[in-house]
Amino acid sequence: MSSKTTPDWLADDAKHIWHPYSAINSGLPIFPVTSAHGVRLKLSDDRELIDGMSSWWCAIHGYNHPVLNKAITDQLESMAHVMFGGLTHQPAVELANKLVSITPEPLQSVFFSDSGSVSVEVAMKMAIQYWHTKGHPKKQKFLTIRGGYHGDTFGAMSVCDPITGMHQLFTDSIQPQFFVDKPVRPFGEACNNDDLRPMHEMLAEYHENIAAVILEPVVQGAGGMHFYSADYLNRLRELCNKYDVLLIFDEIATGFGRTGKLFALEHSKVVPDILCLGKSLTGGYMTLAATLTTTEVSQTISSGDPGLFMHGPTFMANPLACSIALTSIKLLLDSPWQANVARIEQQLKDELKVCASLDNVKEVRVLGAIGVVEMNQPVDMKTIPQQFVDEGVWVRPFGKLVYLMPPFVIKSNELSVLTQAVYNVISKIKHKS
Ligand SMILES: *Cc1c(COP(=O)(O)O)cnc(C)c1O
Repeated sequence: MSSKTTPDWLADDAKHIWHPYSAINSGLPIFPVTSAHGVRLKLSDDRELIDGMSSWWCAIHGYNHPVLNKAITDQLESMAHVMFGGLTHQPAVELANKLVSITPEPLQSVFFSDSGSVSVEVAMKMAIQYWHTKGHPKKQKFLTIRGGYHGDTFGAMSVCDPITGMHQLFTDSIQPQFFVDKPVRPFGEACNNDDLRPMHEMLAEYHENIAAVILEPVVQGAGGMHFYSADYLNRLRELCNKYDVLLIFDEIATGFGRTGKLFALEHSKVVPDILCLGKSLTGGYMTLAATLTTTEVSQTISSGDPGLFMHGPTFMANPLACSIALTSIKLLLDSPWQANVARIEQQLKDELKVCASLDNVKEVRVLGAIGVVEMNQPVDMKTIPQQFVDEGVWVRPFGKLVYLMPPFVIKSNELSVLTQAVYNVISKIKHKS
C-alpha cells in the first residue's frame, strides 16, 4: 500500500492494539477498512473487497443494510440502554417471543447476554444449577467432542478442543472436562452403535459427575470446520435421557440459516435442553447472544435453593441490540433465504471442486453456505491475506483451512470472484517437504 493511501492512525494500531489471536507489533499485515456496503468492504485506498467471511458468520444480510440501519436509529431515539434488573422493555420481550417461536417448542425461557462465550458460560451454569436444585450437586462436569469451539472465556474454553484450545497453557486454571473423539460419520448418513460407543462408554462411567453434554450440532466451526451426521445427535439425545445428563447445543455459528436449515438441530429430530445463539443473531450489527432453555430447566432452577439463576450482565438485553436482532430475524424470514443458501451451496460445490485436484489440498467440503478447502499444511498468514486482497476479496484462513461463508445476499457473479480467488491463491502455495 502506498504511503499516500495509508491513514496516519494505522501505525498506532500496531503499537497499542491486540487483534484476535495476535501479537502486539506482530508485523503481520493489517488492512484499514473505512466503510462497508452490501457484500463489499472498502479499504482506505478506496479498493473494494468482496467479503467471503460475513465478519465471522455474522453479516448474513451484508453491510449497511437500510432496514437494519433504520431499526437502530429508530430505537436510538427512545433509548440506547437501560439496566435490565427490575426494568424491562419491548425490544427484549418481542425478541424473546420471536426466538421462542422459531425454536423447538419446549424451549420457552430466554437469557440474554453480550457475547457467544458468555452465552456458553450461562448454559453451563444453568446445567449445574439445574442438577444442584434436583439434589445432584456432584453433577458439575461437562462431556464434549474433540474439535469443538465454544468461546474464549474459562468455562467455554474448558470444552473447546484441548489441542487447538491450548489447554496446555492454562492447565491449572481451567476445569478438566470429559472428551471423546468427534463423530466421523459424514453428514447425510445414519449412525450405528459403534459411532456412539465412545460417548456411551463415557456416559455410562461418569454420568454421576456430568451435568451436560455440550456440542455444536452438525457443523463444528472454528475448531476445524468439520461436518458430521445429524443422526449422531438423535442417538446422543437417547443416551442423555438414559443417563440423566442435559444436552446443550451451541448454535452460535450455525444458527439463522447457515447450514440450510434455520437451526442446524433441524437436520435431526432433537430438542436440546439448552440452546446457545449469537453471531448472526443481530445480522452482524451488534454484539448480542441468547441462551434458551426448557420450562423444566428454568422452573427447576427457579424453585428450590437459591431459587435464582446466578448471572446478570450489565448490558443484558441492550435495547439497540434487541431491536436490531428482531429486525434481522424478520428480514431473514421474509427473504428467500432457503433458496439463497441452496444456490450458494450448489455454486460452492461446482466452483470449489477444482481445488480438490491440487496436490496441496486434502479435501473440499460444502454444506449450506459454508465452503471449506482443507490444505495439507497450514497456510502462511504473513503472505496469504495480502494475496487475497490483491484478488479483490476478503478471505481469512486459519491453520489448514481456507473457507468461504459469504453473506446470504451475495450474487452469483460475486461468489464466483470469491471461489476463483481461492483457487488462484491456493494453487500458488508450494508444498513444504
Ligand atoms: C464464535 C463462537 C462462540 C463464541 O462467541 P463470541 O461471541 O466470540 O464470544 C461460541 N461458540 C461457537 C460455536 C462459535 O462459533
